[in-house]
Amino acid sequence: MHIPIPQVETLSDILPEEPLLMMGAGPVPIPEAVALANGIVINHLGETMARVVHQIKSMAGYIFQTASPWVVGVAGPGSAAMEMAVANLVWKDTRVLSICNGFFSSRLAEMAARSGGKVEKLMVPEGESVRLDDIRLALEQLQPEIITIVQGETSNTTHNHQLAEIGRLVKEHGGILIVDAVCTLSTMPLQMDEWQIDAVITGGQKGLSSIPGVSLVAFSELAWARISQRPAVMPQWTLDARLATNFWHKASYHYTAPVSGLLALHEAMRLVCKETLPLRFERHLSCSKALQAGIQALGLSLYVKPEHRLNSVVGIALPENLSAKAVCKHISDNYRVEIAGSFGPSIVRIGQMGEQCRAHNLFRALHALGCTFKDLGVSVDVAKAMAELENALQRSKSSIALT
Ligand SMILES: *Cc1c(COP(=O)(O)O)cnc(C)c1O
Repeated sequence: MHIPIPQVETLSDILPEEPLLMMGAGPVPIPEAVALANGIVINHLGETMARVVHQIKSMAGYIFQTASPWVVGVAGPGSAAMEMAVANLVWKDTRVLSICNGFFSSRLAEMAARSGGKVEKLMVPEGESVRLDDIRLALEQLQPEIITIVQGETSNTTHNHQLAEIGRLVKEHGGILIVDAVCTLSTMPLQMDEWQIDAVITGGQKGLSSIPGVSLVAFSELAWARISQRPAVMPQWTLDARLATNFWHKASYHYTAPVSGLLALHEAMRLVCKETLPLRFERHLSCSKALQAGIQALGLSLYVKPEHRLNSVVGIALPENLSAKAVCKHISDNYRVEIAGSFGPSIVRIGQMGEQCRAHNLFRALHALGCTFKDLGVSVDVAKAMAELENALQRSKSSIALT
């Protein structure tokens, strides 16, 4: 016995007495029903789990807007779902075009290269949406078999808003389109079938307002046909989508499923269906626009121009003498609100995903943000910002439940 018992604190010593409000780029606050479900463990191969999985798949059909049966889950972060989509569809010498707007879209390119693909990157200028003409040219020149793109680039808050047109272009060139919708799914329209998308990736902890660690991928029939005809089995056993169908389609064993996380995801998805997608999109849009108006009324600037801007995560440009780290620490220590820095540009980011889009959370976050800048010596008008937020919310339709 050389290794002594460590002295550890209890969680109640470590965690703050009152939880911090999670207004960063994920994870986001979860509804009570999701938290309760996450505390339950059941048999992962029993009849109850089979019913839960069946319902998750049918709710995924609605939320992804696809009739494809090829929905599979993965025990892992959004990145595991990204890797599941990429590694199943890309192998040695597969021609891949990766549209790179920033950190996460470049991660897709990295994964494709590690899977053996010949990857060409289409680098989109910082803070902009990809242009259709640039994609058209790249498709003509490279004839890629696989194209990867993000709907929302969370890292710098840009939005590729022409996915329908991009889907059509890709099909004209016979390609397979992989879309990362980790931060955007259920916060804004995404029509997998109508837009001819072949793989949609999502995580739990962002738009869906579930817990991190359980993620979903939906494959089209075309993508599934490619997966079924792979020249060799893929090296990653856990991420093999065909093996995943053992659990997701045959109620049998692949690996021990993350039962609690799946129950939580079920509840999160049930709440999306209950709200309905149109009303959920409207809630997200109204809240994000109102928050953006409030931030601008403070006297601050948004990082991305309106035509390229993502609404699911709002990026705020920082004055030159201020670091994201200082802002995030101050707002957390003094106002008990968590916001995010960034992996590149000098911005702070406030999420507008799932439960973050509630009026009371907006008021608290905007007030905390304004006071933080004021405390740090930036001249901002907090009262004007709060009034602007209220006015903007008033202007949005009264039919949506913002509380
Ligand atoms: C957060 C995010 C990811 C990665 O999700 P993890 O759960 O952190 O692995 C990937 N893509 C986008 C667009 C994201 O916002």
